[in-house]
Amino acid sequence: MFVESLPVGQPALPDADTVIATLTAVMADGADHPELWAMIPALAGTIPDLADRLTTRADDALPIALLRGLVQAARGDCAAALAALGPLALHHSQSALVQGVVFHIQALADPDNPRYQLAGKVCTAPFEQLDVLEASVHQCCASWLQTSAGDLGTTPWPQVWNSAAAQAVRASVLDGSYRYCNKTACPKIQANGLPEAAAVAARSPFWADVITNARVALDRGPRVVNLAYDRTCNLACPSCRTERYAADDATRARFDRLQDVAILPMLKHADIVFVTGSGDPFASKNFRQLLTALTPQDYPHLRFQIMTNGMLFTPRQWAGFPNLHGRVAMLKISIDAATGPTHEALRLGARWDTMYENMRFAGQLARSGVIDQFDLVFTVQHANFREMGAAVDLAKAVGATGIYFARMTNWGTFSASDYADRAVFVPGHRDHPAFLAAMADARLRDPMVMLGDLAEFAPDRAGQGRIFVH
Ligand code: SF4
Repeated sequence: MFVESLPVGQPALPDADTVIATLTAVMADGADHPELWAMIPALAGTIPDLADRLTTRADDALPIALLRGLVQAARGDCAAALAALGPLALHHSQSALVQGVVFHIQALADPDNPRYQLAGKVCTAPFEQLDVLEASVHQCCASWLQTSAGDLGTTPWPQVWNSAAAQAVRASVLDGSYRYCNKTACPKIQANGLPEAAAVAARSPFWADVITNARVALDRGPRVVNLAYDRTCNLACPSCRTERYAADDATRARFDRLQDVAILPMLKHADIVFVTGSGDPFASKNFRQLLTALTPQDYPHLRFQIMTNGMLFTPRQWAGFPNLHGRVAMLKISIDAATGPTHEALRLGARWDTMYENMRFAGQLARSGVIDQFDLVFTVQHANFREMGAAVDLAKAVGATGIYFARMTNWGTFSASDYADRAVFVPGHRDHPAFLAAMADARLRDPMVMLGDLAEFAPDRAGQGRIFVH
């Protein structure tokens, strides 16, 4: 769609500044444009001073730097291009545009790696998932897909579900550009876990219609709903927030209305509700109310994914939520440590002895079949990477069915330099060699381990068997 505006192939050769202006105008939307990056070699070949102009221009620093990297890669020096873009990639870790350019150059450097071949593969999330934040909704985890489909606080949910933005995201999946996705952060892309279109089409008439007719406006609602609007939590973890947070009365009233008007009606059509990626379900009065309202009588098909820091997951709390009994498809406890001192340092307000007992209780529920699965979640950062192997032992000791490792994301909590100090998985970090040694731990090859967006650091890319979503 944007390609037509590029003056390539016209009788009069465009000058470098015209090409740069056209490209940067397209890049202003913040989305990835792989179809343009694919044209860079031809542009660089036919416009001799393009590289020079990109080197001498200081305006529009971010797009110019990205184009400079793309031209450098087009000339065969992918390693230098990636090294030059490294600091920008770290600073803009959630930008679909920046991460898309990095992904494109990585693909040039490793052309036979199927992870980089996205055309013809279909991510099903934007066709069946809705993550509800305080003033936006996303068709996937918002940290991988920042484009919002709308606001359920102001717009009826069926309109949001089929908004222009929602349809554009779906179209980007079907055309293979995935232009709104954060390609270096998405665990499905990183693990080469996206299914082929033909396999998706064979799943059901719904999917056959989506694939065959490029259907982006859907007549059925989201199947998976992730509730992430209430940040209320009993802890204040440095990786997430700087101080403890509880919604005030006015905010709670707003969430009450959101739940009555949008969430409860929308969940009538859903199979899975995820509570919560934003805080803790047992600390939030709104989520507690909601869990009480979602009875098996009114929502007979609905099953739960519960994500908690675990401190409140006691036998007594569990007994207070009979609606959950026998209906939890997945319980996730976010742990980020394998020892008491590290856990209490990273989970301000937590107590390790209570955590350990609560995890053992969760393990008993999984063993007895009251909940289907129980995974630990371990967000890797400088303060805990040396405990990754021991965390697998811990998962087994408490009876977890899996453990998921992921890179720590900067949710806006950290300055760029603070995040760089914690992001031990980034090549160039002073302890990156020690991190790579920790990734070689044989315990991380256990079938219960999911390495998500860390798999590329495992010596044999182990840990890709099961892909964790949310
Ligand atoms: S970020 Fe990944 S999981 Fe999310 S929609 Fe894009 S491809 Fe799918």
